[in-house]
Amino acid sequence: MRDRNMLNFTIGPVMTWDEILSISSNQVPYFRTPEFSKIMLDNEKMMLNYSGAPENSRCAFLTGSGSMGMEAAVTNFLSEKDRVLIINGGSFGQRFVELCEHHHISYIDIQLSLGEALTVDKLECEDGSQFSALLINMHETSTGVLYDMKLVADYCKRYGLFLIVDAISSFMADWVDMTELGIDVMITSSQKAFACAPGITMITMSSRAISRLNEIICSNVYMDLKLALSNGERGQTPFTPAVLTLLQINKRLHMVDSRGGMTGECKRVGEIADYFRNKIVDLPLENVSHSLSNAVTALHPTNGQSAKEICDKLKDQYGIWVCPNGGSMADYVFRVGHIGNISFVDIDRLAVGLKECLN
Ligand SMILES: *Cc1c(COP(=O)(O)O)cnc(C)c1O
Repeated sequence: MRDRNMLNFTIGPVMTWDEILSISSNQVPYFRTPEFSKIMLDNEKMMLNYSGAPENSRCAFLTGSGSMGMEAAVTNFLSEKDRVLIINGGSFGQRFVELCEHHHISYIDIQLSLGEALTVDKLECEDGSQFSALLINMHETSTGVLYDMKLVADYCKRYGLFLIVDAISSFMADWVDMTELGIDVMITSSQKAFACAPGITMITMSSRAISRLNEIICSNVYMDLKLALSNGERGQTPFTPAVLTLLQINKRLHMVDSRGGMTGECKRVGEIADYFRNKIVDLPLENVSHSLSNAVTALHPTNGQSAKEICDKLKDQYGIWVCPNGGSMADYVFRVGHIGNISFVDIDRLAVGLKECLN
């Protein structure tokens, strides 16, 4: 059935499994019911479990894309009293910078060049005692750089920094555990490795985060996490949520168990990534990331061809989507995602397409 569609190697929304796909062909059920509440309570329980969330953590489900989760984290957990350190290695790091700027949160950003890894030297350049919180995209999806989270966790612990992690493109693809890394707030969303429809962002928060939440007056009503948590106690949301996406999320979280837990999920994405990377070793493509993730490979054509042109060709002539980069990187880099329902045969097709496009 999927063969009649485009092959999708983007970073989201991605190809999914029939069990999840079939949910979106149902009528949308009414949600102010005990039946829906039960599903939502189950969703929260599973999210806390799979996030490795510490005791007394909570998870809120907001209707919006992942960037809304990022903004909700800034407006709910930070205030003018804070001074924030942002790791800025690309367009998602820059988004945190813009959010802090817009909401008048004082910050310093550590800027990394294209594909650069975060090293201890780079991090220690900033005196941690100057800051109250650290904001990071665990995986900078625009360049395929996976940050060394143990390094970041250690720094935050040493200086007592409140740690907010955008794990939107990492959750279910690269290992992350809130307890082990001392993460206070973890942001995820439905359309990346979750492989569900877009529309839901999940914010998992530790008890320390909940205390902070209760001390700060959120500048939004729709994104107010206090409201989301109090409604969530009875398995409800304050406003009409993306109901079908939440049902898909429930199915997907139950699938994790039968697929070897989070370890199994990450392993599978890693195998897809390795298979792809091995397939293209002889092509004129340079991997720009100096710290590879399982989720994405960011590639620069070394034969002088435009990256954007390769994406267009793959789409129009081969029925394959990969991700062009935006702005100044459009001609320089494109990205191939390894998340969602991808098979080795799919990758073989992509590799053939890429080879022909590069000639
Ligand atoms: C996809 C992504 C987001 C969110 O993007 P939306 O388009 O708003 O869903 C945020 N951060 C990272 C690291 C991402 O990969």
